[in-house]
Formats: sequence, structure tokens, C-alpha cells
Amino acid sequence: MISVSEARKHLLALVRQLDSEEVPLAEAAGRVLARDVQARRDQPPFSASAMDGYAVNAAEVELHAMFKVIGEAAAGHGYKGRIGAGQAVRIFTGAPVPEGASFVVIQEDVTRSGDLITITDDPGSNSNIRPRGGDFLDGQTITAPKFLTAADVALMAAMNIPAVPVTRRPQIALISTGDELVMPGGTPGPDQIIASNTFGLKAMLEELGARARILPIARDTESSLSMAFELAEGADLIVTIGGASVGDHDLVGKVAGDLGMERSFYKVAMRPGKPLMAGRLNGAAMAGLPGNPVSAMVCGRIFLAPMIQSMLGLPAGDQSRKTAILSEDLSSNGPREHYMRARVEDGSIRAFPNQDSSLLTVLSDANALLIRPPSDGARKSGEEVQYIRL
Ligand code: AMP
Ligand code: MG
Repeated sequence: MISVSEARKHLLALVRQLDSEEVPLAEAAGRVLARDVQARRDQPPFSASAMDGYAVNAAEVELHAMFKVIGEAAAGHGYKGRIGAGQAVRIFTGAPVPEGASFVVIQEDVTRSGDLITITDDPGSNSNIRPRGGDFLDGQTITAPKFLTAADVALMAAMNIPAVPVTRRPQIALISTGDELVMPGGTPGPDQIIASNTFGLKAMLEELGARARILPIARDTESSLSMAFELAEGADLIVTIGGASVGDHDLVGKVAGDLGMERSFYKVAMRPGKPLMAGRLNGAAMAGLPGNPVSAMVCGRIFLAPMIQSMLGLPAGDQSRKTAILSEDLSSNGPREHYMRARVEDGSIRAFPNQDSSLLTVLSDANALLIRPPSDGARKSGEEVQYIRL
């Protein structure tokens, strides 16, 4: 059995960064920027008013000062002339600040009578002007690789970038195996349960920027499994779930082997998730996950997520481990690295008492995986432990 970090290395060796493609800006959220992009203009492109008020010369601004209003500047319609001594231009948020003006007195600080305004409240020292290029300058770079958020999309829009180079989405094929499984919405027989793992994994991997296809459930026969592998054609990563142990009906290793899988390892010193297998099958990476729902999801988080990140050209980080203080004692750990379902709040962490790897309610209540090193001794409340956020 190999360690979790060795297994991760083997899995990462099965994938490499995918090609890039260009997508419309509106489709760029959740994708990974493949090449640096540059702003095509300054923002704002002119000194702009940050408030509704009156644009004047800053040198003339003082309580009780009076100005003659000589025109108006609105967003999209600047005032074309120049402001002279004793003059003001009515101005609105987003409008270009007219030549000669260097201060916007907000309308609340002014009393207006016809064309005349008087500053009747302390105008303060903030000019209420956003300088040209104050947000970004022409040529300013967004550096790749970067997972593009909604905010990034807004920024690129403002930069006038209508199409974005992104890494192709990794294509994942998800195969559930087992005679006991029925798709959600189906009618399970008395001995059957609903297939949950493929759905959880699809959600997890797509959030990271992959595209996952849920294939028809493979029955516990060699022919059904081979057919499922055939349907996985074209995927960058084939993930099977279940059938990876050593039971009479666990056929994934055998069938994948018959189809030519070059195995890179089988079994990891990890809890949950021990019967993990991986290799290369017809040019694709293949990971055989254990069937228990929590095992499959934890393996997805610990192993598949870094593979996706690596295919997307992102650093496959060590899952950013954090520390928290135990709020309850923990008994000693066995020989495998244990990823305990836990809840972290305000820097303190508590593992759920029932760590059975079939309990999806516990996983759903958890917001962290508390990590116990192999053969870690008993831990007392108040001690520091490591976890990763779910
Ligand atoms: P196996 O590794 O095939 O022996 O499966 C271990 C356990 O996980 C069994 O209780 C299976 O019923 C369950 N299981 C396997 N695949 C799935 C799945 N896709 N969704 C939910 N449970 C599953
Ligand atoms: Mg099975």
C-alpha cells in the first residue's frame, strides 16, 4: 500500500495540461485563463465624477463660496467647454470632469437658486473625482493561469476583452458499477439503492471547471463493464466507482486490465478510500474509486480535484491544509491516514462521532476533513490538528 501523497503523485503523472480554446466573455466564468490578457483601455478613460453635484476649481472651494452654473455634464455626455473662475458645471456620477474643474461639491452641500449655487455645508477635502486609469491602465495584465470568477469576468468586460483564451475543459466519464444501483428517479427493487456517487462527483468536478458525463450504470458482469468503458471513449479521465475491492463481484481491475490498462497502483493507506486503483487506459487516465459514497467523495476531493487542476494548468496545491483546535478528544488513529468528517467553527474543530464511510448525511453536515496522520496517537481537546475545508 502506498501513502496518500505517493498516490497523488502517481495520479498527477497520468495527466497533463490540456490545450486552450477561445470562448466568448459571457462563457468565461468558471474556466481557467490559459494566456495572459491585457486591458485595451484605461478605466476610467477620463477623470470622472464619483458623485452627483457641481464641478468647480478646488482652489475656490470653501464654505459660503458662490458659483455660476454654466452647463451640465452627465454620464455619456461631457461638458465640452472650460470652467473659469467663479464657474461651476452641474455634474452627475460617471460624467467626465470638465476642463478647469478639480473638485466635485456634492449636491447635498450646496444651495441652488436659479443659476447660482452657494456652498452651504462643509464640502470636506475629498475631491469626489475618480482619476483617469484609477482602476486599471491600458495594457494592464491579468496573469494566467487563473480560475475566472464572476469578478474577473466583470473586469475583463471593462477591459474590452470580448473573447477569452481558456484551457479546454477536462472531459470526465463517470461509471457507477453494481447490480444494486438504480438512477435517481428510478424504481429500485427491494434489494436496490440509488446511485449517488456519480452525481456527487459530477457536481464536485464541474465546480472545478471539468465537464463530467454520467454513463449508464455498469452491471456486475464483465460484458457490462467493458461496454461502459467503451462508452467512456474520448474522456481525458475515466472514473469508475465501486467494484474495486476484492469481492467476487469486484470486476473493475480485471476488466480494465483485459482492456489494456497499465496499472500505476492499487490501494492507498487512507481511510476512507483504501481500494483506490489508477492507471492509463487507451490514452486516458483512469481512476477506480471505492464504492462507499463518502469514500468516493473524499477520494474525489483528495485525488481527482488535483488531477483536474493540473489538466487545467493550475497548480495542484496540497489542498491548502489549515489548523484548528480540537474541541473534543480523539482516540488514536490506525495505520492509515484518516480523513475524518468534521465541523470547523471559529477556529475549533470537532469530528463527527460516526465515521462510517456510507453516511452521506454526515458528509453533508461536515464542512471540513480533519486529517489524522497514520498511527497518530490519541489527541486531547485543546490540541492543534490539521484539516482541509470542504
Ligand atoms: P463496492 O466497492 O462495489 O463493493 O461498493 C461498496 C458499497 O458502495 C456498496 O454498499 C455499494 O452498494 C455502494 N456503492 C457502490 N457504488 C455506488 C454508487 N454509485 N452510489 C451509491 N452507492 C454505491
Ligand atoms: Mg459493487
